[in-house]
Amino acid sequence: MKRFLIILAVLGANFTQAQTPKTPAGAKTEHAHAAQTNPAENTIDPVCKMSISKDTRSVSTHKGKKIGFCSVVCKERFDKNPAKYAVK
Ligand SMILES: [Zn+2]
Repeated sequence: MKRFLIILAVLGANFTQAQTPKTPAGAKTEHAHAAQTNPAENTIDPVCKMSISKDTRSVSTHKGKKIGFCSVVCKERFDKNPAKYAVK
């Protein structure tokens, strides 16, 4: 009986491993979320007034708001002096 339990335990462990995806589930979910929604709340770059691409990676968080920029150059300008460019 004890031997039977050990075999069951081994089989159970193998089954669990087979069902677990090799890639982390968390990272996959996060990627899907980022692809579906615009990370920034604004559509106009507050620094240069250009429209922002929906998949921009240049996003800065200011006072709880995610502000997108056309490029990392504008993001850096904003980060140095957010009060000057802050969206009201
Ligand atoms: Zn810009």
